[in-house]
Amino acid sequence: MEAQNETPKNGGSEAVDNSDEAALIKQQERRRRARFRFTMAVFIGLIGIGYLAEQLLAPDMPTPVLSAKPAPSKPVVATHWAALAPMQRAHQSDTMVAGDSLAALLARAGIDGVEADAALDALSAEFDPRKMKVGQKVRIFSEWPTDSQTAQEAVPTRFAGFDFIPEPRQRLIVRRTGHLQFDVVKQVRPLSERFFLSDTLISSSVYEAARGGGMSPNLVVKLIRLFSFSIDFQRDIREGDQLEVLYTRRFDENNQQAEEGDIVFAALTNRGKRYAYWRLAHSDGSHGYYDDNGRSVQRLLMRTPVDGARLSSRFGMRRHPILGYTRLHRGLDFAAPRGTPIYAAGSGSIVAIGRNGDFGKYIRIRHRNGYETAYAHMSRYARRLKKGSRVTQGQVIGYVGATGLATGPHLHYEVLRHKKPVNPRDLDVPPETALDKIGLTKLRNAQTAIGQRINALATNDNRLRSLPRRRAAATGG
Ligand SMILES: [Zn+2]
Repeated sequence: MEAQNETPKNGGSEAVDNSDEAALIKQQERRRRARFRFTMAVFIGLIGIGYLAEQLLAPDMPTPVLSAKPAPSKPVVATHWAALAPMQRAHQSDTMVAGDSLAALLARAGIDGVEADAALDALSAEFDPRKMKVGQKVRIFSEWPTDSQTAQEAVPTRFAGFDFIPEPRQRLIVRRTGHLQFDVVKQVRPLSERFFLSDTLISSSVYEAARGGGMSPNLVVKLIRLFSFSIDFQRDIREGDQLEVLYTRRFDENNQQAEEGDIVFAALTNRGKRYAYWRLAHSDGSHGYYDDNGRSVQRLLMRTPVDGARLSSRFGMRRHPILGYTRLHRGLDFAAPRGTPIYAAGSGSIVAIGRNGDFGKYIRIRHRNGYETAYAHMSRYARRLKKGSRVTQGQVIGYVGATGLATGPHLHYEVLRHKKPVNPRDLDVPPETALDKIGLTKLRNAQTAIGQRINALATNDNRLRSLPRRRAAATGG
């Protein structure tokens, strides 16, 4: 060591005339040695503390094993990190990126590979690490003894585990229980629901108006589905129609939005006629939307069995684009890109599936009350469908194509009542269900509660509301 090498040098042969100076040098030398001894003592002391700390942290440290088996699954009790005192913990956060893995993420955080493997082994008993999603946030914990007297940097910290939120209502915690031993704790995250009011006038589309009212794209799709039984969006919507929606979002304990919620109430005033639906929870856990008379929003048949399509040919007499002569067009044609999903307009069973002459790939479904629907020119059928298969309303049965006699990809859609073709657009099909007396009482209660919510939000300045300038000007004078 350097200090030892210096010792003989100072007592060397170089003449020292001034004895005072020699004494001073000796004194300095003594101080230097004392400092060195002190430094060594602190150094050894720190190693000792480190060793003791390691013993404290892992008192039952077994002979090191290189691949730890997952801890035997015990009844999982939600334990807060704090309950494992006397340890202090800190965490760093990282986010899963494209092509990432949890192992790579832990390596980035500087976690030893053997430690990380042991933690991941434990996790895989509860959750497949490959199911981590891009953008998923992970907190990586380190820990050190609380009662340490030394500055934090001098104390060995160790990997304490990690946690993440695989689904809005759950947090998974991988937690150190001993040397190379980890277990997994599932923690339920309590979410609270908050209500939002969107009250807009439609200027270009329902989609744009609802988005302007703060609704998420997913929720807007649900909204459009909700109205699609009673309103033909392509034909009926007018600029200036009013759209009111009361919807929820769910928040975690840190006030972060954890989940989008539900549509609780929706009303569309379409050319002066108001369509309003209230959400009603049933005792079996399901729910439905009902109008003021207790009739379900769902009808026997959907109005349009394909999303985002353009009506390209109407029902009635027309000149056939390929055959060139006039004949009855028994259905509606919806132009849509090849591969666009086609839905069963209503629940029922498949009575025909296969090639059908000019109709190409064709499906016909029989519903209740003597109704049938037919779908033609499909590019392909949905898997596992055959004659006799049961389908539910909204189920994908096939995809738009141009098989048979067709000028381009489109869906030819027919509705038959007692085998006679009817115009799907003029159809007033009955509601699926209606509420009984008890159900109606529940609906009235739900309506009262929803009305109070709307009133509270409508008079609250924090409401999420976007009114086009035109309307604001109209109410202003
Ligand atoms: Zn057609």
